[in-house]
Amino acid sequence: MGLETALPTDSILTTQLTRLVNWSRRSSVWPLPFATACCGIELMATACSRFDLARFGAEVMRFSPRQSDLLIVAGRISIKMLPVLQRTYQQMTEPKWVISMGACASTGGVFDTYAVVQGVDQYLPVDVYIPGCPPRPEMLIDGIMAIQRIIDVDGIPRDASGKRLPLNIALEPNYQPRAQPIPVTLSSRK
Ligand code: SF4
Repeated sequence: MGLETALPTDSILTTQLTRLVNWSRRSSVWPLPFATACCGIELMATACSRFDLARFGAEVMRFSPRQSDLLIVAGRISIKMLPVLQRTYQQMTEPKWVISMGACASTGGVFDTYAVVQGVDQYLPVDVYIPGCPPRPEMLIDGIMAIQRIIDVDGIPRDASGKRLPLNIALEPNYQPRAQPIPVTLSSRK
């Protein structure tokens, strides 16, 4: 990367161990996609070449909770599925993070029924809420970057007893609605 020419080769760089550990953690967030509905498609798109989640070191999707540290809940969660989600979270290694992606995961969305969980934060410590139905991939990237900033700058929030606290970050939508109806122009073929 050219550093060898810019720095004397016999120099020593010093840093705090916590900063080094935090840098390593934020540069290698491994998500566990708990995708149950249409939001999962946007989650898949985020990892594809157009949005390229690999730019942020978070493209290594793991389907084993023991190898993951970021749970992304993408889609509605039924009451029947809830024990599986909770067990998955419990089996993940510390420090771990949770993103609630989309209206269904955060509030139940349009599924206001007794069979659907009306917000996973009733059962899991959610760190970042991502609005939208579905959220765009850029929003998910925003959410992951918010967690990375917290890891990098502030470390892991804990209460006086050492218990991990959820971050409770709610993202704002980052798009402008377009005026409707969108004018259509037809060009005649020659
Ligand atoms: S928020 Fe919208 S896009 Fe996401 S799972 Fe619910 S209905 Fe589907």
